[in-house]
Amino acid sequence: MMTEPLFDTMAIIGPGLIGSSIMRAARQQNAVRQIVASARSAETRQRVVELGIADKVVETNAEAVEGADLVIVCAPVGVCGTIAEEIAPHLKPGAIVSDVGSVKTSIVRDMGPHLPDSVHFVPAHPVAGTEHSGPDAGFAELFDGRWCILTPPEGTDDEAVKRLAAFWALFGAHVEIMTPDHHDLVLAVTSHLPHLIAYTIVGTADELETVTRSEVLKFSAGGFRDFTRIAASDPVMWRDVFLNNKDAVLEMLGRFNEDVAALTKAIRRGDGEALEQHFIRTRAIRRGVIEAGQDTATPDFGRPHGHED
Ligand code: NAP
Repeated sequence: MMTEPLFDTMAIIGPGLIGSSIMRAARQQNAVRQIVASARSAETRQRVVELGIADKVVETNAEAVEGADLVIVCAPVGVCGTIAEEIAPHLKPGAIVSDVGSVKTSIVRDMGPHLPDSVHFVPAHPVAGTEHSGPDAGFAELFDGRWCILTPPEGTDDEAVKRLAAFWALFGAHVEIMTPDHHDLVLAVTSHLPHLIAYTIVGTADELETVTRSEVLKFSAGGFRDFTRIAASDPVMWRDVFLNNKDAVLEMLGRFNEDVAALTKAIRRGDGEALEQHFIRTRAIRRGVIEAGQDTATPDFGRPHGHED
């Protein structure tokens, strides 16, 4: 535990899975002196009070950011621009304003223009998550051993970037800095496309006429089960991811379709060699993921509901 908190007051806007995990981790690591939270619904505000994970829960986002040194917007990507506009006049000069959105180019585009020059805007994406939502789903260890990607726009104050990096490092996260465009391309293939495939395959299985739904569920351990977990991820969050990372996802989807076509051809032609070579290559990638410490060899990831977004 640190002796001195890195920030005096932290405001969390949207204390859902990610926001409430930050609040819990910040408390556990003594990263901030005071935590203020605001949520859209009265239910969420009430639940945050009951959970006791904030020092203060307020009704409006404007009120939450008053006097805060660190503001983290943890709402779905599609509403971050509106929230930036709402909080802009109330921000403390010198404050660091960040977010946790799974897409970064649109965050910079939508939030950046509203924020005054007197604050430091350092967008972030903790590449850690689960398929669960809301303040009850969060836990302090969520970011431990995971990556947090910072995408500061050009000209951002170095000290502010270093301070936010130090904040994430306190939670056990490894920090990397990228341009927003590059982030979106990397995440399109590592997260967005896999989610799209899971959403597709679960829908496909559900619409089959010759295989009953009960058979799909009964024999799901054959591979389907792992897709259902990913396809249970929050619909609004993922709607916003695809709407806001359209170009990169379409680029990756184009490549994916070409590769599916090649495998389809190999199956049709009975080309066992092509199939086997492909599977040997992908097995090596799986080993690489485990060696990089981003998963364990045991099923279900060996972590509570763990998967990366
Ligand atoms: P979540 O659990 O559903 O929480 C979202 C929070 O945002 C809730 O507190 C919600 O308030 C609030 N919110 C929703 N719509 C809003 C609006 N129109 N205005 C103001 N607040 C609003 O979602 P999450 O999984 O924490 O995701 C939050 C962000 O983290 C997203 O941008 C997502 O891309 C990013 N992210 C998610 C994951 C993941 O695995 N889930 C991983 C990394 C990054 P109410 O409860 O009152 O509705």
